[in-house]
Amino acid sequence: MPITPPPTLTALAPGVFAYVQPDGGWCVSNAGVLVGREAVTLVDATATVPRALHLREHIDSVTPAAVGTLIVTHRHGDHHYGACAVAPDATVVAHERTRELLLSDGLNLPGIWPDVAWGEVALRAPSVTFTDRLTLWVDELRVELIHPGPAHTAGDAVVWVPEHRILFTGDITFSGVTPLYLMGSLTGTLRALDLLRALEPEIVVSGHGPVTGPEVFDANAAYLRWVQELAAEGRAAGRTPLETAQTADLGAFKSLLDSERLVANLHRGYAELSGLPEAAELPVPAVLGDMVVFNGGRIPTCLA
Ligand SMILES: [Zn+2]
Repeated sequence: MPITPPPTLTALAPGVFAYVQPDGGWCVSNAGVLVGREAVTLVDATATVPRALHLREHIDSVTPAAVGTLIVTHRHGDHHYGACAVAPDATVVAHERTRELLLSDGLNLPGIWPDVAWGEVALRAPSVTFTDRLTLWVDELRVELIHPGPAHTAGDAVVWVPEHRILFTGDITFSGVTPLYLMGSLTGTLRALDLLRALEPEIVVSGHGPVTGPEVFDANAAYLRWVQELAAEGRAAGRTPLETAQTADLGAFKSLLDSERLVANLHRGYAELSGLPEAAELPVPAVLGDMVVFNGGRIPTCLA
């Protein structure tokens, strides 16, 4: 079955590729492909078996090598459910919190989107974990995994290729898509964006949406600060996060895909204003319910 819209594999530097899946909305995530002489190092593995097999076809177009190492950027299944198909024998590497959260989440996404063609997805648990930083090598190419603190989730890893100034951010940045902080932190992500900016990357591959330069950091930070202001105003006025979202003027952010995420982001903003620790777990089903109400009673659109 063809994948629509069709994903693309783009060479960013010798042996370094971005796999970008349009439209970049819910569960339609990007990946990175680092090609070594004898093995591929993959950054994230897509959400479904059909999508992962399609990724494998693209990898086959540049190398016959198997995926030897899979870096999972964070807990969300749209970035790793496909591992069982595209990286069945790979060593799976992730932040230690991501390992815990991935295992406790289990295969939870089909419960939200039962109509997606997931295929026979199965979890692949990370067997190598790290806390702050870890350096991998793809032959002579240095690849740095960096945990910038709680941001999109409690256990995010970015993948930095200093020789080519290429950064794979996972979902710490979103490109042309509304960011999501339901399981992370607004304040933590602002700190993380400063850290990523300081790396001075020239090419940024976000977890969702087209490849950009570092301008995506400012775009995401502007959205974050707007959410923080809205949360403070709404909370002071005694409105619920849903009511604040329903009365908000999205302004320049209206053009971003998946605008209902504002509801979840306001829940996170309210939680932080009430003193809840960064990335503390929120009642996800209730927040998803609010997003459905904001969306006119529809589950958010997912093209996976
Ligand atoms: Zn995510």
